[in-house]
Amino acid sequence: MASKVLLRACRVTLMRKQHVLLQTPQRVMSAKGIPTDEEQAAGLERRVLQAMKKGQDPYSILKPKEYTGTRDDPHIVPSINNKRLVGCLCEEDNTAIVWFWVHEGNPQRCPSCGSHYELVHHELPH
Ligand SMILES: [Zn+2]
Repeated sequence: MASKVLLRACRVTLMRKQHVLLQTPQRVMSAKGIPTDEEQAAGLERRVLQAMKKGQDPYSILKPKEYTGTRDDPHIVPSINNKRLVGCLCEEDNTAIVWFWVHEGNPQRCPSCGSHYELVHHELPH
């Protein structure tokens, strides 16, 4: 008799647990599937991804573009100020760097090799 009561109690407990299991919300993946990096990104990472989508590189994490250094295609120097110190390796195997200031407004030339440099105002995203 005691064993029948115990069995009944176990069945009732199991049925309640199954009922609870059926009621718990299931985690279902959205209709789109696994979210992408852009959908998950937040804060600074999100701003950087959005800027890169527009073709911008706000923190200079990509390799800089190459310019010929002529008057028509000067080296672009991004700056948050109105001047920036630039080091020019005039030739590829030079061991000395020629340092000079580039000011906003007028393109300047390297005093040693004559390459043109132009300062472009650069705004940080935050
Ligand atoms: Zn130079």
